[in-house]
Amino acid sequence: MKKIMAVNAGSSSLKFQLLEMPEEKLVTSGIVERIGMKHSIFSIKVNGEKLEETLEIENHGIAVNILLNKLIDLKIIASFDEIAGVGHRVVHGGDRIAESIVLEQDEIDYLESIVDLAPLHLGPNLIGIKAFKEVLPHVKHVGVFDTAFHHTIPEEAFLYAVPYDWYTQYKVRKYGFHGTSHKYVSYRCAELLGKKPEDVNVIVAHIGNGASICAVKGGLSVDTTMGFTPLEGIPMGTRSGNIDPAIIEYMMNKKHKSAKEITNFLNKQSGYLGVSGISSDSRDLVAAAESGNHRAKLAIDVQAKRMADYIASYYVYMGGADAIVFTAGIGENAVPTRANVIERLAVLGAKIDHERNSKVRVEQLISADDSKIKVFVIPTNEEVMIARDTLSLL
Ligand code: ADP
Repeated sequence: MKKIMAVNAGSSSLKFQLLEMPEEKLVTSGIVERIGMKHSIFSIKVNGEKLEETLEIENHGIAVNILLNKLIDLKIIASFDEIAGVGHRVVHGGDRIAESIVLEQDEIDYLESIVDLAPLHLGPNLIGIKAFKEVLPHVKHVGVFDTAFHHTIPEEAFLYAVPYDWYTQYKVRKYGFHGTSHKYVSYRCAELLGKKPEDVNVIVAHIGNGASICAVKGGLSVDTTMGFTPLEGIPMGTRSGNIDPAIIEYMMNKKHKSAKEITNFLNKQSGYLGVSGISSDSRDLVAAAESGNHRAKLAIDVQAKRMADYIASYYVYMGGADAIVFTAGIGENAVPTRANVIERLAVLGAKIDHERNSKVRVEQLISADDSKIKVFVIPTNEEVMIARDTLSLL
């Protein structure tokens, strides 16, 4: 039995879970928020109870020290030696990293060299890795990459039809994200179907604030909707998903804004929020739509239509699919949104069972018995995947 820490470091936050492996038993979880700001917040769950403290935490290094010492104070561990390894969620592995790896200096140097592929996330990920390595220098630190699962996407699907040297010189290609979740969910789906991952084709819809769909053929990602960045694909909480790229220059001229400012609109003011004008949160939109708000309903429909488009195209691309799976915040909870998407796929023989679909946050089959394609909800668990990969590399 080994204790493994799964870590997700953002620019001002640090989420963690301590798991007992290989049992996959959650020992404790928590988050440090507002790192580097006034009144940082440290919260941790112990025996189902949430403890919260306001502290001054200037940087990630201090956050890691506080977190580990708290584990000792709360008698969750007796000494740091009990932590056998740390698995770090890393947003980007560039075009080189195809699987989880032990993070030695060479690997960290490589990640530093590709920071500009995902500056908002990879920079903070690296700060988290360095902070943990400094406090726990004698254990293995493993990187688990959001892009790694998508390394099997073939050239014809990852290449954009732009001048070829954009790819060879500047690394412009589809990378895809949410890979850890797509892998976990598609493998679990194979289990539920009583088959090996190699023997099934699954379409996974990971729909949270960020959202992407993945075509998983025989256990391998063969296409996904997010691209060079997480902005591509279906509309999300605040992201536009695909648009005509010519809109950018047009709106720069109309609004007298820079490319950076317009891209910021596409990342932060679009999607659910942009279309509805109400909120980026699916709960607000579902409630507003139910009380007759047209733009709330429209925001959900714009996303649902694009989801159905992608699912149908992946169905054709893979030569059929055994199952469609919903996961993440909206996929696990938004009952009407799931039905909305599946009803658009009637021509594929997909049929929802409304009674089954009425449950939230549990693993379940939601398609009718006479549906030609099975539809599941499978709660995602990226931390377990991180801990599994870390354990296997110890
Ligand atoms: P991310 O990890 O990308 O930040 P999550 O996977 O946590 O996002 O998903 C957040 C989304 O899930 C929000 O839009 C939230 O409203 C939605 N969500 C959570 N619970 C419900 C619910 N009961 N009904 C509808 N949407 C929900």
